[in-house]
Amino acid sequence: MTRLFNDPEDFAEEMIDGFTLASARWVRAVAGGVARATRAAEPTVAVVIGGGSGHYPAFGGLVGPGLAHGAAMGNLFASPSAQQVHSVARAADEGRGVLLTFGNYAGDVLHFGQAQERLRETGIDCRTVLVTDDIWSAPKEDLDRRRGIAGDLVVFKVAGAAAEAGYDLDEVERVARVANARTRSFGVAFGGCTLPGATEPLFTVPEGKMAVGLGIHGEPGIDEIDLPSADELARMFVEKLLDELPDGVELPGARVVPILNGLGSVKYEELFVVYRTVHRLLEEAGAVVVDPEVGEFCTSFDMAGASLTLLWPDDEVERLWLAPCDTPAYRRGAVSPRAAVSEASVADELDEAPIGVASEDSRVVAAIVVTALAAMARMLDEQADDLGRMDRVAGDGDHGIGMQRGSRAAAAAAAKAAERGAGAGTTLVRASDAWSDKGGGTSGAIWGVMLRALGGTLGDDAPADALTVGAGIKAMSDAVMSFGKAKPGDKTMIDAIVPFADALVQRVGAGGRLSDAWAEASEIADSAAQATSHMTARLGRARSHGDKSLGTPDPGAVSFALIADAVLEVLKKEV
Ligand code: ADP
Ligand code: MG
Repeated sequence: MTRLFNDPEDFAEEMIDGFTLASARWVRAVAGGVARATRAAEPTVAVVIGGGSGHYPAFGGLVGPGLAHGAAMGNLFASPSAQQVHSVARAADEGRGVLLTFGNYAGDVLHFGQAQERLRETGIDCRTVLVTDDIWSAPKEDLDRRRGIAGDLVVFKVAGAAAEAGYDLDEVERVARVANARTRSFGVAFGGCTLPGATEPLFTVPEGKMAVGLGIHGEPGIDEIDLPSADELARMFVEKLLDELPDGVELPGARVVPILNGLGSVKYEELFVVYRTVHRLLEEAGAVVVDPEVGEFCTSFDMAGASLTLLWPDDEVERLWLAPCDTPAYRRGAVSPRAAVSEASVADELDEAPIGVASEDSRVVAAIVVTALAAMARMLDEQADDLGRMDRVAGDGDHGIGMQRGSRAAAAAAAKAAERGAGAGTTLVRASDAWSDKGGGTSGAIWGVMLRALGGTLGDDAPADALTVGAGIKAMSDAVMSFGKAKPGDKTMIDAIVPFADALVQRVGAGGRLSDAWAEASEIADSAAQATSHMTARLGRARSHGDKSLGTPDPGAVSFALIADAVLEVLKKEV
């Protein structure tokens, strides 16, 4: 239960405000998150971390000398947008390149990936290292597909210490990969978290039971077993993780850093009781325990749960793990004194950018775009709860609020651009930036890409006839496939978009009126979206719970079909 909040919608923003006020010794607020408030004597590689909010001390609490240089802080459990990551990275950059590192989640991968491209375009060398420590999220043979949980701390700390030691970007990247390859985690939960304003928890665990292998966003567990005693849990953690020794680690004799992490509402005292047996079992297995940690390093709001992370360091990683650092939530040793940064925050430039010249024809289309986006936003306001429930079955439950936030911001940005004389193309591009910035998550990134592709086809000059709109929708569908790498049948929104685009192109190609063609394509999208109930998810957040999603349609496919219907109503009136 979250008890203390004002308007739940403002929670993340107000939390970040309070956090920066309380942590001014270490961090300063920048657009999109926080950056260090101080600078070392010599410039270093910048380590930029991030993710959704709700995991404190991840991510803002880990910014400071010896650890991260900046953190992009998304909304609750929603990845930060590409704009946020880009802005934080620019603020953190000291001229020696940027390492982006974060837990492996579809939405984060998409947004950080776009930010990396933009940084490279402006001449900032940028690399990415994903954290993939959660052993339950994919089998051993598929290490790269595992998601990141409390092992985040290890990779961030090692990368941050390497930067602090003066390593160049190649070397920071290399050692961060080694740290990730040598880190494994295992999580359990006894009860779900309840987001501010929500009336029920994201998931529940029956009394007397424990969920095994669940995610830190309320993604359901892999298995449910009887609640163990503290010793039994410790044994389970250690046995399973010893089964997962990274390559090159051999027992007896290997050195190991255990990190026992509380996920939100498990007490330190309970963790110590568990840790006592973890420590003993590791030693009995012949491991040499180095510098253990027991506490909260990556939480999931008020979720009752715990995870054990084991880092099996080589000499270099151990040295970097033990190096001093000083951040709001994690400190060790003494760091050298340093000067305060004086630059002002990086401003949000989206709104100020000049609007290019547009033809009268294109401005007429822009007005229809504005009306359509407003209709989408109204519809998503109504459907948000249902979409959220759908996403909760195998995902994290945020699809409704993500789409709501994204479409509202897009509608507002489009209206503003059109008011300033923008053509259809520019209006859609502004809407795209706003959607991906405020929507966050996988769907935010994807809707950003879709609106941008459509805008690219419509441009700011030509009127939009049925064929051009058909080509624009096809471009949208192609862009999502090449961006998100999903294929038809993976149980994503692609399964609604592709048949919709194909039908529309075919109908307008045969000389149909746009609104008639759209009506037929919409119907096809509706049934295609419903048909995803029979599919098993192979991509995105729902992947690790593939079978759980059987019987429920894909939320992204359903929201796409609903959007197509909402736009149809506008086309019927306007075209
Ligand atoms: P998140 O998964 O980050 O929580 P949302 O819940 O808002 O984001 O969106 C989930 C939806 O995103 C899924 O229902 C699916 O339709 C869509 N999705 C996930 N991965 C992909 C992908 N690779 N390509 C296209 N759509 C995807
Ligand atoms: Mg989701």
